[in-house]
Amino acid sequence: MADLRDYTSLRVGGPAKKFVEVGTEAEIIAAIEAAGDTPILIIGGGTNILVADSGFEGTVIRINSHSMQAEVDACSGATLTIGAGENWDEFVALTLDRGFAGLETLSGIPGTVGAAPIQNIGAYGHEVSEFITRVRTYDRQEKAIKTFTNSECEFSYRNSYFKAHPGRYVVLEVQFQIRIGEESDPITYLELARKLGVQLGDHAPVAATRVAVLELRASKGMLLSAEDHDSWSAGSFFTNPIISQQEADALPDAAPKWPLIDGRVKISAAWLIENAGMHKGDEVGGARISTKHVLALTNAGGATASDIAELAKRARDLVKEKFGITLVAEVNLVGVEI
Ligand SMILES: Cc1cc2nc3c(=O)[nH]c(=O)nc-3n(C[C@H](O)[C@H](O)[C@H](O)COP(=O)(O)OP(=O)(O)OC[C@H]3O[C@@H](n4cnc5c(N)ncnc54)[C@H](O)[C@@H]3O)c2cc1C
Repeated sequence: MADLRDYTSLRVGGPAKKFVEVGTEAEIIAAIEAAGDTPILIIGGGTNILVADSGFEGTVIRINSHSMQAEVDACSGATLTIGAGENWDEFVALTLDRGFAGLETLSGIPGTVGAAPIQNIGAYGHEVSEFITRVRTYDRQEKAIKTFTNSECEFSYRNSYFKAHPGRYVVLEVQFQIRIGEESDPITYLELARKLGVQLGDHAPVAATRVAVLELRASKGMLLSAEDHDSWSAGSFFTNPIISQQEADALPDAAPKWPLIDGRVKISAAWLIENAGMHKGDEVGGARISTKHVLALTNAGGATASDIAELAKRARDLVKEKFGITLVAEVNLVGVEI
């Protein structure tokens, strides 16, 4: 029997009733069909899920499918079609090594290529949706292959059509369009610009950008490492809330506010948590707020899923009490309520 704590970066979670690891598209579809009407949980790297201590009463399908196809045009760039089970950061590193540019700021994000479109992964000013042209999926409802164009994916901040229809679409392959080049996309994140010694909006060499991003991530415990308990997390536990201008005006001036083009305002969940009274290093049982990044809830050693959920509840309730804003989990909760 597979214990899900062995397959998640939080290292918590009980047993799966059934666990299968699948390496090809045909195996993925066969495993889904074999499960019939019983519950299915698709996982890749397990770096964005919190699974209950009681485990999962159904079939866990771990996608481990590997494939890469490249069509390179010497002038414009490359179209790369990548299997869902490929490791995201290995793919990023490969594109940069082969002379392509674009994915450098997304270096070091853990997990698989197939999960990347689900929450439209992003970091340091860029999101994966800027590079995705197509997502090939298996539609569990229609029992058929369905390919989505970029606009059909309805990408937004940490969201997509797939996330809005949980469990329906299983990503089989993702197609990316990236350009040939040695200069990064514009650096739009102040902390990264400072580290690289460039102005906001400037470009930097892709290799140096990757190194800078990896260093910044490591300094925040946002780079997976067996030795660094601060990285035994699922990344940012909550999304940054998007609120109306009126609600934003009611917050103290010190609260970081990022105006969006639709007139709403994105605010920092980390700032809200810290200013509601929770701090780096706060603990519940074996769960601890990262000592480096207040938005990451971690397993300090021996944590249960209940400990992590309790810590999350505490943060969410304090923010609600102090600021009237409800934090929403970015992490996918499996049998856990907060
Ligand atoms: C230390 C750390 C740092 C992180 N930093 C970032 C960051 O900077 N930016 C960011 O956006 N995220 C970040 N994350 C979150 C995580 O890396 C991403 O969400 C990643 O895409 C998850 O990939 P995964 O393969 O581990 O997905 P899993 O955790 O296995 O699954 C996540 C969700 O996607 C679904 N899923 C997985 N694969 C498929 C598939 N093939 N088809 C359909 N559904 C699927 C699962 O059912 C689940 O709902 C971080 C996580 C950690 C631990």
